[in-house]
Amino acid sequence: MNLKEYIRVIPDFPEPGIRFKDITTLLKDGAAYRTAIDGLKEMADGLGAEVVTGPEARGFVIGAPLALALGVGFVPIRKSGKLPGETVEAAYQLEYGKDRLAVHKDAIQPGQKVLIADDLLATGGTIATTIDLVRQLGGEVVGAVFLIELGYLSGRDKLAGIPTHSLIMY
Ligand code: 5GP
Repeated sequence: MNLKEYIRVIPDFPEPGIRFKDITTLLKDGAAYRTAIDGLKEMADGLGAEVVTGPEARGFVIGAPLALALGVGFVPIRKSGKLPGETVEAAYQLEYGKDRLAVHKDAIQPGQKVLIADDLLATGGTIATTIDLVRQLGGEVVGAVFLIELGYLSGRDKLAGIPTHSLIMY
């Protein structure tokens, strides 16, 4: 199955000049979604992850089923102000826009092996911030997996030393 065929590219969203990779066309197809999660699980096998984490919202639809497939738990990373418990926070810069991400202080234990998952690696800003949060809690980032990578934005450079895998490359 060629998963790229299930991604819809929408020009000029959310801003002129951006060619947005829409994953909803993949998610609504059960076989394609299954194939994507199976592929990411294969990439993650052997990394020894004890928990998966991912940023809202599309990181959840990739990270949570991946965590179940790996037989580990899932820790949500959310925009500032959304999590009810005590949090740690970090600012981040997107391909477009700026915001703060947060995670519950007790969500990751010191020394715990953490796999990061998201739908798409662009400039790497979101994932660099996610790594920052995991490390603030003492977690060990053992890998990062993405459904899609925009290779021409070189986000991978921000993941130096972390095993990084993507299923679909642009
Ligand atoms: P980065 O921080 O690497 O520049 O941007 C990646 C983040 O922005 C991801 O969390 C992803 O959900 C979102 N994102 C940026 N561009 C796109 C896109 O074209 N398609 C999708 N689905 N998400 C995008």
